[in-house]
Amino acid sequence: MDPKEPEAYFRSLDRSFFIDNGIMKNYAHIDGPLPIGYGQTISQPSLVLEMTRLLSPGMDSKVLEIGTGSGYQTAILAKFSAKVYTVERIAELMEKAKKRLEALNFSNICYKVGDGSKGWQEYAPYDRIMVTAAASLLPKELVDQLAVGGRMVIPVGPPSMQELKLVTKTSKGDVHVQTVTAVRFVELKGEYGWNE
Ligand code: SAM
Repeated sequence: MDPKEPEAYFRSLDRSFFIDNGIMKNYAHIDGPLPIGYGQTISQPSLVLEMTRLLSPGMDSKVLEIGTGSGYQTAILAKFSAKVYTVERIAELMEKAKKRLEALNFSNICYKVGDGSKGWQEYAPYDRIMVTAAASLLPKELVDQLAVGGRMVIPVGPPSMQELKLVTKTSKGDVHVQTVTAVRFVELKGEYGWNE
């Protein structure tokens, strides 16, 4: 991935388009997470860009995203990969995100409402996996669904603060986990996440 490419698209993307609440829309330009309802947040723009760079998708990549939320990160992933499979556990958020992404003319996104801590086995393996909610531990199912040579970006740790991890799978099938920075995300709920 050309490091300049996502930045230009990211800058052209109006974050207020992904926020419904009229008051919150006014804060869309601020570099911080904002509430999107249902106790969830739209991610911090600079972190969305940093995580996208770290994931480093290519135009031939099959990407699994866990935690669609508003669809903001999904749009950036869909712009720089072949196909995005996105999973969100809150149906109302997914419905709104899907409408926004369709309005932006994306036709390379598959949507699923369900428990993304289990991944999306049907289309595995994935070249890239982006998790935008905090897992208690690295979910084994997601590691299993990562392709050889693949990369996964995932926040892991307690609700108060997590470590952003870069997980890679080598050609021999070995799994390497690297800690990148400290972050704070909402919880990844579900079978391989925090209790519902
Ligand atoms: N990247 C999104 C954006 O830019 O709008 C924000 C994602 S928000 C920080 C995390 C999302 O993960 C929430 O929408 C939450 O409902 C979702 N989530 C939490 N646990 C999940 C699970 N097990 N499966 C799918 N989605 C989950």
